[in-house]
Amino acid sequence: MKINIFEKGFNYSQDGPGNRLVYHLSGCNMVCPWCSNPEGMNKNGKEYETDEIIREIKSSAPMFFDGGGVTFTGGECTLQSEAICEIINSLNDISFCIESNADTPDFLYVAEKCDTVIVDYKSPIQDRLKLVTGGNLATIENNLRQIEKIKHIHIRIPLIHSFNDDDESLEGFTEFFNSLNGNFDVEILPYHEYGREKWLKLGKEYTVNDGYVNKETIKKFVDKFRLNSIKVIKT
Ligand code: SF4
Repeated sequence: MKINIFEKGFNYSQDGPGNRLVYHLSGCNMVCPWCSNPEGMNKNGKEYETDEIIREIKSSAPMFFDGGGVTFTGGECTLQSEAICEIINSLNDISFCIESNADTPDFLYVAEKCDTVIVDYKSPIQDRLKLVTGGNLATIENNLRQIEKIKHIHIRIPLIHSFNDDDESLEGFTEFFNSLNGNFDVEILPYHEYGREKWLKLGKEYTVNDGYVNKETIKKFVDKFRLNSIKVIKT
């Protein structure tokens, strides 16, 4: 089976616990204008045989220290669910993690096989999410509810001014988190512009002009979540 990857390499603690071999899978179902990996939005990475990746993981195993392992990210890795699952099913003793937008039909199928599940939850407001990213809130929230019933999840909010740092969003995030079972933690990732240069290099217009959030807003989000007994962490 083939798997399409646009970048791979080791990373420590940013993409799941410990030292991890991180595979960035090509193709995404969303079009977030702040995406820091715009080169991975289309499925034009390099094709590998899954057997080749399985061999690479096996030979890399001594490097998975401090609770490390393998992370599939993207793009949206669960769009290549069959390839990922073939790899996971072939390797019993390896810790697997996915980073996902949770907006795909196969999210659960992959997530339930992983030890660590990291999800970007971008907006609790359907119209805005759809308009800006193309995402579908009902799918995301349903997937989060389902996976949270069977394992702990790490939810990341990319906090972006003029997209999701307003009071209506804060209320929506809080309401949704309060409706879960508490089997999750939340991390706020304030807006950055790591992707801007890449967008321009690809000949694409970078349309986020006012994305930075101020410290007071971040504190307001953290305080509100903590007031509601929502666990907020920083990795
Ligand atoms: S979901 Fe992630 S990978 Fe896809 S466009 Fe948005 S930020 Fe980029």
